[in-house]
Amino acid sequence: MTHPRAKIAFFDFAGCEGCQLTVLDTLQTHPELLQAVEILEFRESMSEREDGYEIAFIEGSCVWPMDEERLRKIRAQAKIVVALGACAHIAGVNSIRRSMSPEKAAEIVYGREVQNYVTKSARPIDAIIPVDAVLPGCPIDRHEFLRAVSMLLQGTLPQIPSDPVCVECRLDENRCLLLRGQACMGPITRGGCGAICPAFGVGCEGCRGMLADMNFEGLREQFLANGLSLADFERRISMFLSEQTPTLQVRA
Ligand code: SF4
Ligand code: SF4
Ligand code: SF4
Repeated sequence: MTHPRAKIAFFDFAGCEGCQLTVLDTLQTHPELLQAVEILEFRESMSEREDGYEIAFIEGSCVWPMDEERLRKIRAQAKIVVALGACAHIAGVNSIRRSMSPEKAAEIVYGREVQNYVTKSARPIDAIIPVDAVLPGCPIDRHEFLRAVSMLLQGTLPQIPSDPVCVECRLDENRCLLLRGQACMGPITRGGCGAICPAFGVGCEGCRGMLADMNFEGLREQFLANGLSLADFERRISMFLSEQTPTLQVRA
């Protein structure tokens, strides 16, 4: 007897669509997934759409009032909502606008055309609707996506690591960038990415979000001890973590 396939759908809000591309790429390397799920909506890859989905994967941040209405409609239909990637999880790169006024952000992006555009602040989707699970990262990790789908098909909500990036980094025996005077947000950022950035000599930017109860102040002190400035630290925070850092002041 064959089991009915789980009905799933993908939705996009403000983001670069890189997380959806990661899903598409994963479906190409793991076509067997399509025997376990039925995709009812996925604008990135198909024009057909159908209601009746049970699991909604949502990429992107909420920016416009109409986004709120659309998110509530998705929530009303889906039994399970999964935030797909940093934009949906923590407002992602879009939250960089929190480190300046919306007017300043618009001016930087649109220059002389600024009067033709309206810029609003970005919010994670759980600011609007309850979210059952999160797949963090910018973009998501394909292995984590596969594990998550597998768990969802078994009726379990996917769990994500609760250790900081440093744990995987030290297990991989990477040379610590922070101890060599460079910037790295690994000590306060959720792991699960295999510490891929430090493994290639690049400091963590915090794309998987900040863990609760991390030593935020201690990391700031370490930046200063490394000869980096407060502005360097705030620049790192503003890339991905400003939504989770209420102390970061919005500047004019
Ligand atoms: S999390 Fe990153 S890759 Fe995913 S949609 Fe946002 S900007 Fe793109
Ligand atoms: S390089 Fe960064 S992530 Fe790796 S151990 Fe050092 S501080 Fe942690
Ligand atoms: S090392 Fe940091 S920035 Fe790089 S993928 Fe992992 S969490 Fe994201």
